Amino acid sequence: MASLSTAAVTARRGGRFVPAPWADDDPRRRELELLLPAEHLSRRIDAAVDRLDLRPLLQTYAGTGTAALAPALLLKAVLYQTQQGHTRPADWHRAARESGPVRWLLRGCLPSRSCWYSFRDRLGPLLGHCNAQVLALAVDAGLTTACRGCLDGTTIAANASRHRLVNAPTLDKRLAELTAATAADAAVPPPEPAAAVPGAAAAPAWMAKTPAGRRRQHGRLRQARQRLHELQGRNRAKRASKRKPAEKIVVSLSDPESVAGRDKEKVFRPLYNVQVVDDVDSPLVLAYEVFAQPNDAGLLPAMLTRLRELTGRLPRALLADTAYAGGADLAAAARQGVTVYAPLPADAGDKAKQLPKSRFCWLELEQTYACPQGHRLRYEGTSRAKRSGTEAVQLARYRCPPTHCAACPLRSRCTPGSCAGRTISRGQDEAHIEALRQRMSTPEAQQLYRQRSQTVELVNADWKEYRGLRRFSGRGLARARCQVGLAVLAHNLLTVAARQTAVTCRKATPLPAAANSDPIGP
Ligand code: SF4
Repeated sequence: MASLSTAAVTARRGGRFVPAPWADDDPRRRELELLLPAEHLSRRIDAAVDRLDLRPLLQTYAGTGTAALAPALLLKAVLYQTQQGHTRPADWHRAARESGPVRWLLRGCLPSRSCWYSFRDRLGPLLGHCNAQVLALAVDAGLTTACRGCLDGTTIAANASRHRLVNAPTLDKRLAELTAATAADAAVPPPEPAAAVPGAAAAPAWMAKTPAGRRRQHGRLRQARQRLHELQGRNRAKRASKRKPAEKIVVSLSDPESVAGRDKEKVFRPLYNVQVVDDVDSPLVLAYEVFAQPNDAGLLPAMLTRLRELTGRLPRALLADTAYAGGADLAAAARQGVTVYAPLPADAGDKAKQLPKSRFCWLELEQTYACPQGHRLRYEGTSRAKRSGTEAVQLARYRCPPTHCAACPLRSRCTPGSCAGRTISRGQDEAHIEALRQRMSTPEAQQLYRQRSQTVELVNADWKEYRGLRRFSGRGLARARCQVGLAVLAHNLLTVAARQTAVTCRKATPLPAAANSDPIGP
């Protein structure tokens, strides 16, 4: 809630929003404005947000009760703070009182602390709409065709302690203790002041000290248990070699929606996986999403859906790393007309235990493999097998007749220790993997792929280094999404504004085709 002025009281009767206390020519605003250089970040954000259609955001205000502060002003301040690497509503609250540029953007509004928190939660679900608008503006202005993208993922620490990860036995024990404590709270009216647990001396250190705190804690633990059941179910669905022992499946008590995994610094902690598709031909971010999954496998189809939502189209080429080069991902991309460029895992060479599968040639007409000695393998049957995730794939098995292998000079390297003949498995999407291998062997693909390191990895590094995205400031998947969405919105808005300014200044000069240096300084 805002601190109310006369304008606010007036607005209660007439409108949903409080008019900004300072007009353009207000001396207090003019005084702050004189200190801002012409190209100051706050000026660029002020102008850029004015171009957005914020009607969906305005419609989330019911218009009952106290008039709200103008959402456009709050959004400008939030984007300015996000671009400065200040991601917490508590930081925004402080800046609204202490920072000249933020006060200038807010035009004299003084939102309360809780106003910033509720504004963040209100804004979160609408950031996709705002980002889609900015990308549409960029496409209309000819700044990008969004036809070549780079996909990459990075893990960002959740706002939760790595020391508060618990497994099922610990969680069940705590829940039982907490259930007993809350039952005792309900039975015995708490003394004045309400503080002590019945038998407080024996209460464990982790337990909240007040009945209200214990009730809230009980709710969080039940949520954690539900999430743990989900994680255990997913673990059980994996193939045996990838399955963890049940006691190793843990959940965060601070942020149950996060997932425990090892981050880039090899620290095991609660985290989220942020996926970004960056434009190859401009510094724009074309799509983003946050997942509660520790690795990138199987995320490519979801990112294609997200690309379609945000840009209204799919890229013709998508540059990705090895983690996205699974058969199912490649098949999903091919079905939607997207060509993936990604390196396949390298053969182990001479260190391999046996000759790699890539030495066997698939004969499309004969529907079988030819081995390095030219012998045809025989189809033996098809089975279903689980891969690294929970999904199952169909595998056809082919075997070289043992009579050939027994007399073969390559036998010691091809099928050591077996006299039953070498076998090769072929997955249902193997053709897409072979097509990718073929594609990546061309000089054009190699040249295109080199642009990947100049795009998406720079965005990830910039976010972590300058935008405070090493650790999320809010808890839960929705707030993590909101934080990433804000970073993308600030980045894209400023990029579009800078490019349009450059085009206006150099009307006759075409834009460089693949310039990727970010014109926006910190
Ligand atoms: S060992 Fe068998 S499968 Fe391998 S190259 Fe020799 S004949 Fe072919």
